[in-house]
Amino acid sequence: MNIIPLGIWGGYPKANSATSSFLIEHDGFHCLVDCGSGVLASLQNYVPLEKLNAVVISHYHADHIADIGSLQYSRLINYYLGKPSTVLPIYAHDRDEEHFAQLSHKEQTIGVAIQETDIVHIGPFEVSFCETIHPVYCLAMKFKVDGRSVTLTADTEWSDKLVKFASGTDLLISEANLYEEHLGKAPGHMAGSEAGRLAKMTGAKRFVLTHLPLHGNPEDILDAAKGVYEGHAELAVVGKEYEV
Ligand code: ZN
Repeated sequence: MNIIPLGIWGGYPKANSATSSFLIEHDGFHCLVDCGSGVLASLQNYVPLEKLNAVVISHYHADHIADIGSLQYSRLINYYLGKPSTVLPIYAHDRDEEHFAQLSHKEQTIGVAIQETDIVHIGPFEVSFCETIHPVYCLAMKFKVDGRSVTLTADTEWSDKLVKFASGTDLLISEANLYEEHLGKAPGHMAGSEAGRLAKMTGAKRFVLTHLPLHGNPEDILDAAKGVYEGHAELAVVGKEYEV
């Protein structure tokens, strides 16, 4: 499978960019992971919107869902124009009933509830989940196909549970939203050294950092991660294809 970062920022995007989001492809099936600010514009560089097959949402913070409404309008406009359309499934937890209800829109998109214990088959992917530690309920996710896996931490502070969940993954895509001086001072996110520790303890074969802060120099976060993880680590690069 191919994983393409569509955006790398946490909170809000830099000019002409997007918040942290990924397109995961295999055998012509296109699955979007998270749909925050700027993601819809970025996504169209890689796949026409009507060719998107599924969306998975980790949690309902704005930097992960802000563009859902525009995605729904794109499907609706295509429908009004008489273009071929299918109902787009948007997988997400339903512990926030109000937000979950908004995922279903005029029979163009439909919310599909997922639980942490579910193993869901989405196109060619087997997808499993793990609750993270974040101010709102949030699910990390692991996509598997042909015996290979990519694990996305979504938003989280350090979690022992996540170590077990991501153990042995081929590609770990970890959030790293904090500089070392903020370690332990901002709930719900990890610093570079913690993300590096997660990569080390899971034995991840490749390691990519995302959900980066707009202030400061994110290379410092990468350096902190490299101080712990001895394999290859890099900041997510928008448009780069990570083949797993
Ligand atoms: Zn969040």
